[in-house]
Amino acid sequence: MSCPVSSTTSRTSSQEDTIIVSVRIRPENAQEHGLDYPLVVQMIDSKMLSFDPKPEQDPYFGPPVAKKRVKGRHKRKDLTFGFDNVFGESSTQREVFEATTKKVLPCVLDGINCSIFAYGATGAGKTHTMLGTPEQPGIIYQTMKELYFLIDEKKNEISCDIAVTYLEIYNENIYDLLKDEKRCLPLREDSNKKSPIITGISYTKPTDAQDLLHILSQGNKRRTQHPTDANAQSSRSHAVFQVYIHQKPRAAGTETEVTVAKLSLIDLAGSERATVTTNSGVRLREGANINRSLLALGNVINALASNKGIKSHIPYRDSKLTRLLKDSLGGNCRTVMIANISPSGCSFEDTYNTLRYADRAKQIKVKTNRNVVNVQLPMHKYTSIIDDLRLQVKHLQEE
Ligand code: ADP
Ligand code: MG
Repeated sequence: MSCPVSSTTSRTSSQEDTIIVSVRIRPENAQEHGLDYPLVVQMIDSKMLSFDPKPEQDPYFGPPVAKKRVKGRHKRKDLTFGFDNVFGESSTQREVFEATTKKVLPCVLDGINCSIFAYGATGAGKTHTMLGTPEQPGIIYQTMKELYFLIDEKKNEISCDIAVTYLEIYNENIYDLLKDEKRCLPLREDSNKKSPIITGISYTKPTDAQDLLHILSQGNKRRTQHPTDANAQSSRSHAVFQVYIHQKPRAAGTETEVTVAKLSLIDLAGSERATVTTNSGVRLREGANINRSLLALGNVINALASNKGIKSHIPYRDSKLTRLLKDSLGGNCRTVMIANISPSGCSFEDTYNTLRYADRAKQIKVKTNRNVVNVQLPMHKYTSIIDDLRLQVKHLQEE
């Protein structure tokens, strides 16, 4: 099989990788099955997949004459892609969590900011991967459970505070998903121009796993939806769940050595082209803004991937999403991208674009140093965001 786009060598993650790029192929749904398009994605092994292979090379795809012609395809692309993980349609939420996000959680507790993204077109499985259902909870729930477990293991040595925020970015505006009131919140930077601060955002401390599920489900109900288009439910905005972790040693004399880190879990808006899903007015603007922020995210990733070092210009300022994640992408951060795709030929273009986006993302490979800015700082050197957070946590404790 030829591989004009991607390397056929599969990737092995190491401590030196700052990004883990995985692809999750969801099962073909009944609607797609009924349309009778051929499948265009096949998992080769746990790190490789083929996209649009020649039928004679793979009988799994069946004779193409029996199927509808795939939209946008003139001749077979016949590509092989290698990623850190390829999850097939029968992959479980637990498997996806363990091979991706679970690996970076020790880094978070070491004071390194991490971001986890679910990328892909509408309907490709992003929300299923991040949120899931009560029966099959997704990455956010499993992450919190694991974090509490890891913190509990260290409870004799370290005291730890966790607070979470949940927000959406819709049309380049930030809204708090923990509040009923829909008010656009301003984004600014702390005095060091390092950490973004959202003025007025609410922090909460989930008391246990059930409480977390409740917070997530209430927050989701507040995501921007379009009553006229069921398909558009929660697909036009980026949902960003952030966990702030603040650890302090218990040993006398070391109480001022505090480790802080932020973990961002992001259910991105659908990556399909605006022209495909929108036609005019508000929807066209939404589409343009979604494209703008995903393009900006791609550009930041590309700039980090071309990696002329941390000194080169990284265009964080080009969208709210990248501004918000400025301290959580690239350089000294760890990133997990889970690109979600449908195997069906009716999503041919979307799948192709998602695979190319993910393929570019995996070029980022620089050494992660422990984030000395965040680790073991004396109390007076905290950035204002942490001061904000401590106040919020104190306030919650007093309630
Ligand atoms: P997106 O958030 O990307 O728009 P969803 O996560 O809402 O897509 O998925 C669309 C539909 O497909 C949902 O009904 C979801 O339950 C189902 N689905 C997505 N991924 C999977 C999967 N890996 N296994 C089973 N069903 C899935
Ligand atoms: Mg969704």
